[in-house]
Amino acid sequence: MPATPPLRDVFVVDDDAFMVATMTAMLARLGEFTVHGYTDARAAFAAIRDRARASDLVILDINMPDIDGLAFFRQLADVGYQGCLALCSGESDAMLRTTAQLARAYGLRVNGSLPKPPSLELLRALLGGCASGAPPHARRRERTQEELLAAIDAGEIFCEYQPKVELAGGTLRGVEALVRWRHEADGVIPPADFIEMAERRGAISPLTRRVFDLAVAQQAAWKRQGLDILVSINASVLDLGDLDFPDFLKRCTARHGVDPAAIVIEVTESGLARDERVLTEVLTRLRLRRFQISIDDFGNGYSTLAKLRDLVFDEIKIDRGFTHGAATYERRAAIFHASVDVGRRLGMKVVAEGVEDRADWDFSRLNGADLAQGNFIARPLGADALVVWHDTWMRRHAAPAEVG
Ligand code: C2E
Ligand code: MG
Ligand code: MG
Repeated sequence: MPATPPLRDVFVVDDDAFMVATMTAMLARLGEFTVHGYTDARAAFAAIRDRARASDLVILDINMPDIDGLAFFRQLADVGYQGCLALCSGESDAMLRTTAQLARAYGLRVNGSLPKPPSLELLRALLGGCASGAPPHARRRERTQEELLAAIDAGEIFCEYQPKVELAGGTLRGVEALVRWRHEADGVIPPADFIEMAERRGAISPLTRRVFDLAVAQQAAWKRQGLDILVSINASVLDLGDLDFPDFLKRCTARHGVDPAAIVIEVTESGLARDERVLTEVLTRLRLRRFQISIDDFGNGYSTLAKLRDLVFDEIKIDRGFTHGAATYERRAAIFHASVDVGRRLGMKVVAEGVEDRADWDFSRLNGADLAQGNFIARPLGADALVVWHDTWMRRHAAPAEVG
């Protein structure tokens, strides 16, 4: 990844002229860059929009009369703004946090949130953060259906595996297979860059089938090595609209000599139209064939309570948006508790996804989840690396209380 260039231009955008003057004076003491002050957001946007330079920093007031900060940064994202962004407001911390999350969701590099008026120390820390922060990823290019189908044929699709461990004691229960595409020119492409396209363009079925084939074969290989674990595989809701899907899976597990009960099919819904009757029929048939079914990203998007009313699942995965930070943020904790409760009452295993640190681990363990998955335990790993990780993990955690 290229190094972050030193800051060259700092834009202060605030409708309060006094605030602009104050910050400009403070910034002038902190570094060798040009400070541009704007009280008119439209003029500021016009000045920034065509630059797209990673050496810029925009300090943005989120409450402005003519265009609010939210609209401002959405437009910055639209024009591919590459620089740093700091949000400034007299609003509550919670409001600043929410706004920063939104800006990140738009792919912007948010380096700080500043209360008003910001202190010299906070500004100094902000500038330090901009200097060390990683530049945003190059704008991602959507892949085409033809490219993906060619990649499947060329054997460029592979899986990484992320452990799911018991919160009580740390035993490895299973892994989730996560698809990647090894592209000759662009390196490893993450699923976010091609799954949606594949769903829209009708290319998901060959992809899913390749992933199942790879992951089931891998499970058989681990078993031969003495590692007997569940393997979770993601299915698109479109796969579940395909009446041949259960037969395909049955043939796949039979070919590799794997017990269907050791395969967990993770279902995330998308907004795409689907026939509920076919979905119910396919899921029911999969359960009859003893595959396990998991509802993924629970609480988010379309993985909703209505699904739990109508279909039977073996496992519920609490979305990482509720797990990570649950110990700190009440609203996340409330949804986490509710999800655990519904999972328990319906007799499902509860998995906390996105366990990123010790606080997430402790929170999940103490609040009723059964299993944890996340970077605190391990990032997604290659098949061989998983075996090495497992040996180390077991040695470190021979004493059950010592997990983490
Ligand atoms: P998912 O099924 O919810 O998978 C978990 C995602 O969260 C993975 O991203 C994983 O790398 C990431 N993750 C795990 N632990 C942490 C953590 O502690 N912190 C953070 N921030 N992230 C964590 P990945 O591999 O990029 O996959 C993204 C999504 O793409 C998956 O979300 C799944 O919906 C989809 N996907 C992946 N493989 C397949 C596939 O074979 N078929 C289909 N249809 N979808 C897939
Ligand atoms: Mg999943
Ligand atoms: Mg998930």
